[in-house]
Amino acid sequence: MIKRKHSGSDLTIFSEMTVLALKHNAVNLSQGFPDYAINERLKKLLFEATVKNFNQYAPTTGSPLLIENLMTFNSNRKNPISLTKDTITISPGASYGIYTALAAILKFGEEVIVLEPCYDSYVPAIEINGGIPVFVALKENFEIDFEALAKAMNHKTKAIIINSPHNPSGKVWKEEDFNRLSDLVKDTDVIVISDEVYDVLTYDNHQFYSAFHHPKLREQCFSVFSFGKMFHVTGWKVGYVVASEELSAAYRRIHQYLSFSVNSPAQYALAKYLEIFDVEENRTLMQQKRDFFIEQFNDLPFTLQQKAEAGYFQILGYEDISDLNDKDFSVWMTEKGKVATIPVSAFYKNSTTTNSVRFCFSKKEETIAEAAKNLRSFF
Ligand code: PMP
Ligand code: GLN
Repeated sequence: MIKRKHSGSDLTIFSEMTVLALKHNAVNLSQGFPDYAINERLKKLLFEATVKNFNQYAPTTGSPLLIENLMTFNSNRKNPISLTKDTITISPGASYGIYTALAAILKFGEEVIVLEPCYDSYVPAIEINGGIPVFVALKENFEIDFEALAKAMNHKTKAIIINSPHNPSGKVWKEEDFNRLSDLVKDTDVIVISDEVYDVLTYDNHQFYSAFHHPKLREQCFSVFSFGKMFHVTGWKVGYVVASEELSAAYRRIHQYLSFSVNSPAQYALAKYLEIFDVEENRTLMQQKRDFFIEQFNDLPFTLQQKAEAGYFQILGYEDISDLNDKDFSVWMTEKGKVATIPVSAFYKNSTTTNSVRFCFSKKEETIAEAAKNLRSFF
């Protein structure tokens, strides 16, 4: 008999709800992936990559051109991040980056703190690597409970996984949050693994702040990024991991033997596209989608507590619609209302109901409008 290696469900909620949406011909606002065409130039660059013969293994740390262009891209941010080639490693997606960072640092039985609600890959990644997840709940409005975080830390704590901009809430951590986190981990060996895959997708006046921006935290953190969400190519599965030279070396010791390197033509295309990528245009496009979603769902009986500050998702409450728990509500709405969502309880270890569901607004306007229309005739 093969012993289970982790406590996650055998089919992730994202696969489960997408399968259910397909089965019932529902509009799929559950799993976070765009349904619109990607940029034409990016398509052409992928083709060009194969023609130019970027078809064999890339160097293990990543394509030199992509690394170079990431250094430029990061130094051109509104709030620049200065990087060297020894501090960037290209990864086959962010989930892999988080897993490999954990594999690089964890010893059996060490504890890793996660802040709930959290993305579903963290806990299995901790457990597969022999670690023990310790849960600290975010406050009602998804703010960080620093008192609870301080209490959860002890001599066994090896890492804290954080996520800003946050999935599922769209909350963005502020600089002072990072200052407080830094105060908590300074003079300890605790490593911060910071999932920052929605870095370029912040709306209104919200500013992205990376763990790597912080002058002290940058010495004891991994910041993990993904091109999937940045360029709307979730299926390409390419990202990058930023860490100090020492932590990058530890990461690479594992990465060499896990995947060795990352899809070579995709790295070429991403590198070239970075040279022409317009962050503001991309941000505006996504903010319009968020606003369009909110406007379309405005006359439906959901409750909106907080507009998403960033990312691909909007949480809505359904307490005025149903008493069902959020999983049953999501299944019911998919089957009968023809719109699929993700129950927010899926982001918790002990899935008590939350009375709220997460909608993906990274869709064509006609898709969002169709979802709203289906629900208008349903409720
Ligand atoms: N972290 C978060 C918060 C996510 O929403 C996602 C999904 N994009 C990932 C990690 C995984 O990213 P990737 O597909 O690059 O592995
Ligand atoms: N990040 C995506 C989401 O939150 C899901 C990716 C996946 O299916 N694992 O919806």
